[in-house]
Amino acid sequence: MDPFATEFWDYANQREFRMQQCDECQKLRWPAAAVCDHCLSPDYSWVPISGKGHVLSWIVFHRQYFPEYPALHTAVAVELDEGPIFVCCMPKEFEETELADAMPMELVWEESHDRHGDYVIPLFKPVGM
Ligand SMILES: [Zn+2]
Repeated sequence: MDPFATEFWDYANQREFRMQQCDECQKLRWPAAAVCDHCLSPDYSWVPISGKGHVLSWIVFHRQYFPEYPALHTAVAVELDEGPIFVCCMPKEFEETELADAMPMELVWEESHDRHGDYVIPLFKPVGM
């Protein structure tokens, strides 16, 4: 994990959904990076993100590739209201929910753990479900 990803996960573990915002041109950087891909400024601040967006695309895995992700397993690309595209899993209880193009989505936090320890992960689910 690079230092910028570490900062993202430190916020996530406090249930704060934040992204880097360029201090020079205000563009949001996702994934987190050393410099802005628009103006190359190294300066940034971690700003709160609303946790609202809509479905851009998704895929349902019917085969298990990793023990942590048993089939069915859905990965969804959510276009955030602020612009960046956030790719994540669906919460387990929503794995069989039928998604649709542009469906409104909202952030949920899920506690989990792996061989590195406990963590809190930001996921997205359909609004109102
Ligand atoms: Zn910039």
